[in-house]
Amino acid sequence: MLAPQTFPAPSAPIALTKPETLWRAVFEQSRLSIVLIDPATDRILDLNQRFADLAGRPRDALRGQDWMHLTHPEDLAHEVAHKAQLREGRIACFLRDKRYVHPDGTVLWVHVNETRVTVSEGEPPCFLAMVEDITEQRQTRLDLHAEREAAVRREQERTLRQAQDLLQMAERAASAGAWDWDLHTDRLNWSPALFHLFGLDPQHDQANFDTWRAVVHPEDLPASERALGHAIRERHPFAMTYRIVRRTGETRWIDAYGQVGIGADGKPSHFSGLCIDATVRHHNEAHIRQLNAELESKVIARTAELAQANAALHRLARIDVLTDLPNRLAANERLREEFVRMKRTGQSYAVLMIDVDHFKAVNDRHGHAVGDQVLQSVAQGLRAPLRESDFVARFGGEEFLVVLPHTDEAGASLVAEKLRGNIEEAPVSSAGRITISVGVALATPSHDTEDQAVQQADDRLYTAKQNGRNRVVTQTPANG
Ligand code: GH3
Ligand code: MG
Ligand code: MG
Repeated sequence: MLAPQTFPAPSAPIALTKPETLWRAVFEQSRLSIVLIDPATDRILDLNQRFADLAGRPRDALRGQDWMHLTHPEDLAHEVAHKAQLREGRIACFLRDKRYVHPDGTVLWVHVNETRVTVSEGEPPCFLAMVEDITEQRQTRLDLHAEREAAVRREQERTLRQAQDLLQMAERAASAGAWDWDLHTDRLNWSPALFHLFGLDPQHDQANFDTWRAVVHPEDLPASERALGHAIRERHPFAMTYRIVRRTGETRWIDAYGQVGIGADGKPSHFSGLCIDATVRHHNEAHIRQLNAELESKVIARTAELAQANAALHRLARIDVLTDLPNRLAANERLREEFVRMKRTGQSYAVLMIDVDHFKAVNDRHGHAVGDQVLQSVAQGLRAPLRESDFVARFGGEEFLVVLPHTDEAGASLVAEKLRGNIEEAPVSSAGRITISVGVALATPSHDTEDQAVQQADDRLYTAKQNGRNRVVTQTPANG
């Protein structure tokens, strides 16, 4: 528990019976500067020493003085208006900050609380003003404000520097330069990097459209000016590429971009953009285009070679190397073509199947090489008497096939007989007399496939062999 608190007994009771003396003491010792004013004359009725100190004048000199003359002339108008309201009783008190001027010219700020008071019944009221020196307070406030403003400014400057550093870094990284055209002042600003990009000196050259025009390659200037003018007039973003020629004579490619910047009022305030050195990219692109063109022409040449090789291969695949005649593959294709044509035109064609007689014996007697020679001379013997439009192929070992377009049975049998006679009458020196047997058939539109006539000719060839060889058979025997 706390010990009961004790207070020393007052030495003597305050003499409340003498309020005059008490209030005089309050008036004199108050930390406030107090002054009583006669509202009728604005003269000072009474004041404490503190007020005299504040006013910077002797107390006696102030008593009876017009107290308004203490106020700074610039603050008087405001003072007079309020004073009238207070005097007319429309307001009970009036607070304000204003300036006092000392006789030596020193200015101080004071806070004044002026109240209408009635001192005694029946007498007109007087004004009681309590005045406080706020010069220091106000200065502190001003200092604080200035300090805050300076801090804001420093922060803005730091942000701006940061943005500029970043821009410079970006400019370096992209080999770029920035420009900004203020639409209000009509001023054009170029970053140092842009001067550098254009091969200009920021110390001596001016950032303006004439300088730009002088740098742009004459061939690219009209189109560039049109694009820029259009973008500026229409407030449109733009992107274009042009060449510049530096004073050293060096040509560089520039990619230029620009767009409108909007001000705080929401209206276009500036036009700004970037110029990027696109020379390397341009050269690379040109190089790639050239490589592509070269590649394309190579591909065209190779494709042509390949087509040629394919055609040669196609030919080779259809030629018999021993006799130089078309081979079986070519024969089958030709038979298909003739058959299709016949189906279209209704004109029949003849097929001759030809086989060398006793060829095995030739090989056996004279050897394979002589056998080959015999095959070559038979091939020639078959090809020579025929028309260009007729077709002869080596169909198998010592077997040949002849196609005679637009030919009837009688014509075919005449040709077959002619071939047989030719071979018989032209002996091969190394092998002596050679004969052939021939089966003849006519392909007619009633046939279902091209193989029908071939089979028929083969059957008749078989008959020719059966009947003694060295002959032509054009009919299938009645019993066959
Ligand atoms: P046939 O009168 O009945 O036709 O009797 P053949 O001896 O001519 O008939 P066979 O079918 O018995 O013999 C054909 C021979 O042709 C057998 C084969 O060795 C020979 N031959 C096939 N192709 C060639 C070739 O390219 N060169 C040579 N030298 N001989 C070949
Ligand atoms: Mg045979
Ligand atoms: Mg034979």
